[in-house]
Amino acid sequence: MNCEILCVGTELLLGNTVNTNAAALSGLLAELGVNVYWHTAVGDNPGRLKEAVAVAKGRADLIVTTGGLGPTYDDLTKNVLAACFGRKLEYHPEEGEFLKAWFAKNASIRFTPNNLQQAYLPERCTVFHNDWGTAPGCAFEEGGVRVIMLPGPPNECVPMFRACAVPYIRSLAGEVILSHQIRVFGVGESAVEDRLRARMEQMQNPTLATYAKVGEVMLRVTAKAPTEAEAERMCAPVVDMVKAELGDAVYGVDVESLEALCLGLLRERGLTFATAESLTGGLIGARLTALPGASAVYKGGAVTYCNEVKAGLLAIDRDMIEAEGAVSYETAAAMARGARAAVHADLAVSATGLAGPDGDGVHPVGTVFVGLADGENVWVRELRLGTRRERVRALAANHAFDMLRRYLQGLPIMME
Ligand code: ATP
Ligand code: MG
Repeated sequence: MNCEILCVGTELLLGNTVNTNAAALSGLLAELGVNVYWHTAVGDNPGRLKEAVAVAKGRADLIVTTGGLGPTYDDLTKNVLAACFGRKLEYHPEEGEFLKAWFAKNASIRFTPNNLQQAYLPERCTVFHNDWGTAPGCAFEEGGVRVIMLPGPPNECVPMFRACAVPYIRSLAGEVILSHQIRVFGVGESAVEDRLRARMEQMQNPTLATYAKVGEVMLRVTAKAPTEAEAERMCAPVVDMVKAELGDAVYGVDVESLEALCLGLLRERGLTFATAESLTGGLIGARLTALPGASAVYKGGAVTYCNEVKAGLLAIDRDMIEAEGAVSYETAAAMARGARAAVHADLAVSATGLAGPDGDGVHPVGTVFVGLADGENVWVRELRLGTRRERVRALAANHAFDMLRRYLQGLPIMME
């Protein structure tokens, strides 16, 4: 099934609003095995929307629209789409009653009659009730083209897509589309492609595709089959093949992130964790504490930016820092040990380096040392992470979590 996502709203064209709906829905559609071939953004203008729909109708099997379902005069998506597909709008009393009740409950928002416009939907459509806002969405089929309409606010559009559009699309296919995400750290996207390209090109069902993320690569295996069990059986050998090819660079399947994996592993083993951060300025701690349940494992950490603070808070010999330099193997090792001791944690990670743009006259920008300490040993990775400040910092944090997960998974901690 080939799909066009058609986002309606002048704010998207003026640059006031980033088209996050298109990105979010593309990801969700890919998981369903739907090919998204076009993203179109069009303003709140009936003539131009009509033209855009005519183009989409001519090339896509599925058109997903977002925006313009509300009660205001510029909300014209339903009227235009219904007209383009030769359908009338009809009043859906159950949605009308829901709207009246909603306004009665939300007494601070005054009900005006134009709000009932939201209960008008194309005739003979499947109504997608909106549990996150007021404007319902819908789906219908006409002349071989499927149309799905969703509201514009991302906090309504995305959950409605999951709750209503996903089962609708699944039911059309008459088959199960199942995918698994294989997460890889430490091997670049081009290297991954290079090793898997020939096999990827030959695969039709299941398919295997790569996606680059900041400092890591995601591979998605997608299988279509009459049953979920069958689709699982088809995916399994592909997942195994990727693991065999990429080895322990594969850090997980269907895990959210490196830090989520670390949190789970720390909890399983009942271990606690601390951080000592220089160039990352708290990013490692922030990424871990963004996850619910972090308090079970994370004891705390220090942002030690200058040498005095490194020496003071982490009880590191100041002369050693002066002699070896703040950006050094020895300082990273001492920071990890110091953080562990300071908060009585089982494990600690550290990061010190040059995020740029200025160097220190000794090391090139992007030189980073990331450390990990347990009760006995300390490991330090010396890295060159490029020259883009944000990327250097993000990658340094990724390396800290990668060292931690390798420790917890019993794998070699240093990379070849
Ligand atoms: P409402 O009932 O709120 O009027 P609607 O379906 O009419 O919903 P719009 O009026 O088009 O939607 O947009 C509502 C809000 O959602 C706006 O603040 C807009 O910036 C945001 N929005 C609309 N489309 C997108 C999009 N494609 N990506 C991200 N945000 C969007
Ligand atoms: Mg609106």
